[in-house]
Amino acid sequence: MSKYVYDFAEGNRFMADLLGGKGANLAEMSVMGLPVPPGFTITTEACRAYLATGAAPDGLAAEVGEHLHRLELSLGRKLGQVDEPLLVAVRSGARFSMPGMMDTVLDIGLTDDSVAGLAAWSGDERLAWDSYRRLVQMFGTTVLGVDGAYFAAALRDAKQAKGVDGDLGLDAADLRALTATFMDIVREHAGRDFPQDPREQLDLAIASVFSSWHTDRARIYRRAEHIPDDLGTAVNVCAMVFGNLGDDSGTGVAFTRDPATGAPGVYGDYLPNAQGEDVVAGIRNTLPLHRLADLQPRAYEQLMDIMRTLEGHYHDLCDIEFTIERRKLWMLQTRVGKRTAAAAFRIADALREEGLIDADEALRRVTGAQLAQLMFPRFGDTERAPIATGVAASPGAAVGEVVFDSATAVRRAEQGAAVILVRRETNPDDLDGLIHARGVLTSRGGKTSHAAVVARGLGRTCVCGAESLTIDTQARRFTTADGTIVAEGDVISVDGTAGAVYLGELDVVPSPVVDYFEGRRPADRDDLLRAVDRIVRHADRRGRLEVRANADTAEDAHRARLLGAKGIGLCRTEHMFLGDRRVLVERLILAADDSARKAALAALLPLQRADFTRILEEMDGLPVTIRLLDPPLHEFLPDRTELTARVAVAKALGQGDTQEDLLRAVERLHEQNPMLGARGVRLGLVIPELYDLQVRAIAEAAVARVRAGGTPRAEIMIPLVSDARELEIVAERARTVLASVGAETGVDVPHEIGTMIELPRAAVTAGRIAKTARFFSFGTNDLTQTVWGFSRDDVEGSFFPAYLAEGVFTASPFETIDREGVGTLIDIAAYEGRATRPDLELGVCGEHGGDPKSIRFFHEAGLDYVSCSPFRVPVARLEAGRAAVGDTAVDSR
Ligand code: ADP
Ligand code: MG
Ligand code: MG
Repeated sequence: MSKYVYDFAEGNRFMADLLGGKGANLAEMSVMGLPVPPGFTITTEACRAYLATGAAPDGLAAEVGEHLHRLELSLGRKLGQVDEPLLVAVRSGARFSMPGMMDTVLDIGLTDDSVAGLAAWSGDERLAWDSYRRLVQMFGTTVLGVDGAYFAAALRDAKQAKGVDGDLGLDAADLRALTATFMDIVREHAGRDFPQDPREQLDLAIASVFSSWHTDRARIYRRAEHIPDDLGTAVNVCAMVFGNLGDDSGTGVAFTRDPATGAPGVYGDYLPNAQGEDVVAGIRNTLPLHRLADLQPRAYEQLMDIMRTLEGHYHDLCDIEFTIERRKLWMLQTRVGKRTAAAAFRIADALREEGLIDADEALRRVTGAQLAQLMFPRFGDTERAPIATGVAASPGAAVGEVVFDSATAVRRAEQGAAVILVRRETNPDDLDGLIHARGVLTSRGGKTSHAAVVARGLGRTCVCGAESLTIDTQARRFTTADGTIVAEGDVISVDGTAGAVYLGELDVVPSPVVDYFEGRRPADRDDLLRAVDRIVRHADRRGRLEVRANADTAEDAHRARLLGAKGIGLCRTEHMFLGDRRVLVERLILAADDSARKAALAALLPLQRADFTRILEEMDGLPVTIRLLDPPLHEFLPDRTELTARVAVAKALGQGDTQEDLLRAVERLHEQNPMLGARGVRLGLVIPELYDLQVRAIAEAAVARVRAGGTPRAEIMIPLVSDARELEIVAERARTVLASVGAETGVDVPHEIGTMIELPRAAVTAGRIAKTARFFSFGTNDLTQTVWGFSRDDVEGSFFPAYLAEGVFTASPFETIDREGVGTLIDIAAYEGRATRPDLELGVCGEHGGDPKSIRFFHEAGLDYVSCSPFRVPVARLEAGRAAVGDTAVDSR
């Protein structure tokens, strides 16, 4: 038979699966010899059995009886004993902390008979009746399901009748009368009397805590926090101690460090003459914890001592709940405390300095997501109150004028306005608006709503599900809970990190952490920056994966290098053919003969060479992977529909140049499905002069850098290869060009030639491709699209939210690498490629290169580097280090 009940003395902190976090830590503190009121824990296993069958498992009642008996013996009092009653708290506590989401019932054991005993024992009749009416109220609502409003109304009436404001204005006689009224309320609305048998109270309370696992608020909380639904909660039965026995009693909560900033020193609140719930309920104003030093010097000293002991024991920030009963301190709870991103860095670094943890452990204590949070621009401090709050769906600080539809968003943005798109919810038709907006605000939907998914993908700030807003798209305005009307054109500020919305423009300040990374702010004068600096540098020492950046311009390259990139993993060249240069490409495409083509190419060459020279200069000494032209050529020509109309008009008007040649070219290059059309290496085969031009520009730029005393390290990367032969043909031509530049200049051009692996066929034939390629760069965006057979632009806004909601995937495969599918192809390609060429260099240049979970996979897959946008480089450095040090052996959380 299972053991369902453990005395506090029988457990420890590593038993949280079975005893819940609260129970495991109460046990740990008991065993450490800290003053914990005695008690026992009923396991999560018992809860699961109860939830499965609707009844307590066999033997549970008897086991609870035994442990209760032992508890009574140790204290010399029986539960509900008439002359001097033992009272207990029945407290929920799951594996993962779910603060306030489930039930706790205090003062179990009070009855019509024992209430007098409590009065006699405590010498405080008021306390006895106050506790009793609280029990009837709490039991009535949580266990018997009576609407709490009845009790609240009765309490209000009692105070009104007496003419007092606060609960403290009611004396023992008033509270006794109120208890009788509460009993009537229970009888009327629960259809039964308040139980007078202490053991029945206990059993009903235990069952009610079990059931509270399934309340709506608990479910919603679990979904938001990714806590599994089938864990169940433990139940802690713990002797009551009284913080409401007069001025030498009280109750409080405390942290061993500041959980908001991580600053050292203890933080907390204390409430004299009160029971636990009062502190958090915010009914009365609390005192800052340090005031306890004057009020109760002995208890304060002991508390400080215990907090130091706990930190030393848990090696981490702890938060605690305590109660003082007539100068005696009791510990009621502890756990490793939740903290902000900034506090996580400061605390990890401080604990390492204090020698409580080593540098590897400090690195494990922070995450890339936390670092990313610290790098977003943010709103400066404000006195203003938000006009609404919602789900913090995509971080950032966006200020702009309100617009209510996609078309207006686009129009105003093109006129140079910053706009915030406000919708009840968004759908795929809003995509253009989302792209043109700084931020998006919706009144419906959560973290996986369309608005949230798309905003995160685009890097737009998003608050969604701000339910207090009434949005009237027709009238072009929305109304807040307090009736404020915000019309189209009004300016609002959206805080996607906190999930808050403000009227008017808040100041946006750049993140000091970004200033530090970019060298504008020293690390040594600020505790947070110093912590970030030390931890990220330790990550660099430990990381095996190198981090490069995706950078297309010299400016991006410069920034990337400041942010710690060890080269460029992807330099795209398509933008180098846009803008003023588009006409040159047009001429190349339209060239009627060889000489026209040569002229067009000759005009492009110096421009390309200058681009590459500047980038190689910024990244001197580091590898720069340049991808030859990838997109379909039609992208460089005018829009087909528009041009057709223009030609028709020109012909009708009998104009000279009707642009019919251009239209013919556009028609010729038109593709139904350009993503799968003539692009990448395919262009290299059909218009070889284009790649020749690019290779020559790269080679001449490298020569220029060598002559200037630099160390250029260009890597020429061929995109969209699916067969080894494609790469051979293009590489052969490239080598010819490189050789002729070498011959012309007398400089041996340093270079490598490699390929992207972004098509399934390339991945499975990688062994042959590696005969030619010196490096592979996994293009995980296209690889994801081609493995799943969907195009990102078409699906992210349409069926992705449904797929996420249905659990087809838990995260978008464009954000976090799909290990099973795409990951397997990467494993195969890496294995086959290295079998052919052991020193084959392997990297990743998709957006996954900056995603924490994906980075861990790339580390495990044995790749050499990841490449990501410059802004993500510090995050990737941190995660590369974290991947290398692995997980903590034991999770103390
Ligand atoms: P939660 O998980 O919501 O914090 P708890 O089980 O910790 O719920 O209980 C809520 C409050 O009840 C606590 O703040 C604590 O101070 C008080 N409390 C719990 N157990 C006891 C006890 N044995 N004696 C006195 N107060 C208690
Ligand atoms: Mg608690
Ligand atoms: Mg691609």
